[in-house]
Amino acid sequence: MFKGYKSPWMTEELQIFEEHVGKFFKQAFVPHAERWNKQGMADRDAWNIAGENGLLCASIPEQYGGAGGSYLHETVIADQEIKTGAASFGIGVHCLVAHYILSYGSEEQKMRWLPKMATGELVTAICMTEPGTGSDLQAVRTTAVRDGDHYVLNGSKTFITNGQHANLLCVVTKTDPDERARGISLLMVETEDEGSKGVTRGRNLEKLGLHSHDTSELFFEDVRVPVENLLGDNEGMGFFQLMDQLPWERLYIALAAVSAMEYALDITLKYVKERKAFGKTLMGFQNTRFKMAEAKTETTIARVFVDQLLLELMRGELTVERAAMAKWWTTQKQCEIADECLQLHGGYGYMMEYPIARIFADSRVQKIYGGSNEIMKELVARFL
Ligand SMILES: Cc1cc2nc3c(=O)[nH]c(=O)nc-3n(C[C@H](O)[C@H](O)[C@H](O)COP(=O)(O)OP(=O)(O)OC[C@H]3O[C@@H](n4cnc5c(N)ncnc54)[C@H](O)[C@@H]3O)c2cc1C
Repeated sequence: MFKGYKSPWMTEELQIFEEHVGKFFKQAFVPHAERWNKQGMADRDAWNIAGENGLLCASIPEQYGGAGGSYLHETVIADQEIKTGAASFGIGVHCLVAHYILSYGSEEQKMRWLPKMATGELVTAICMTEPGTGSDLQAVRTTAVRDGDHYVLNGSKTFITNGQHANLLCVVTKTDPDERARGISLLMVETEDEGSKGVTRGRNLEKLGLHSHDTSELFFEDVRVPVENLLGDNEGMGFFQLMDQLPWERLYIALAAVSAMEYALDITLKYVKERKAFGKTLMGFQNTRFKMAEAKTETTIARVFVDQLLLELMRGELTVERAAMAKWWTTQKQCEIADECLQLHGGYGYMMEYPIARIFADSRVQKIYGGSNEIMKELVARFL
């Protein structure tokens, strides 16, 4: 957060939590960053360590093993993950799946999965995208056909965050392939369940950024999933459940974008005040001051907007339209600011040992996942 600006939702309790989380990332994750980035994923036990420290399911009620916090706690975790320069994994995705279970799961499902998700014993993934369809979610082809007290699952997914480590998958399936939205159901698949044979993981995909996040293809071949693993009371509710939860996912991406902009600005300001050229610091050039002034202005505008939406989310008033606005605009600005800040680092900005290089590389995907920015504009346009 900038000097002189305090988010309206920030409390003393959250500030203490922020210190705890920041210290945790610095001590437990940052020292492993280089190795995790090189190996293309965090160590599996990092999940358990994060769980022990209350970082998984922070916004899930204590009765289900969570920390009993709110979306504000998740926001603080995402912010500190970025600003400490920690290499990490899909904590946000894990939180998202927890909220699907909390919102649509039966009492039995909540008790079965959430406590283990909070400790890191269960690692989750959300499996929407398929090789043949991403943006057009209603066109998914993975099928779940009822056979007695099981569904038989067939299909494949790609680009799945936590895809190597996940042992509980929230799979977007078609229980009625003749329908589009109304044919979609969410099915929870436990990969270590004896019955769940037929789940295969593809390789860990090599990416432009987010190197410590494991991202994979997943294949389902005649996987028998108990009918009690359906999320919600009836088949065909999946698309509506997704539409209900996606505003939080998109705001989460926007919040991460703003944290990355603030971090980029912070490290770049330090750099340009120290680095000298032509006998003066880089900050001594008007071009540098103007670039920094523009970046700070845009970052502040972005921060004020996402803070406002966070308050709307807490009141249960966040709309699809406003979450879409925040997602496309902040991630666009994130990429622009990361690029300008890298430029001010000169050649050092291109070296991975400088944090700005990683911020730049990690930024690019933000315009793509969670619904591409073009799809976000389509959503905003629908309300014009
Ligand atoms: C690192 C990473 C992690 C991811 N994690 C997950 C995950 O955990 N779970 C998951 O399910 N998915 C995940 N995804 C997938 C991501 O959500 C999709 O890549 C994204 O939704 C876009 O789908 P697509 O790649 O099929 O592109 P396409 O849908 O083929 O789109 C290609 C281009 O066409 C544009 N386009 C498509 N339709 C329209 C339209 N109607 N109007 C205008 N332009 C359009 C898009 O904006 C895009 O620019 C991840 C992706 C990445 C890269």
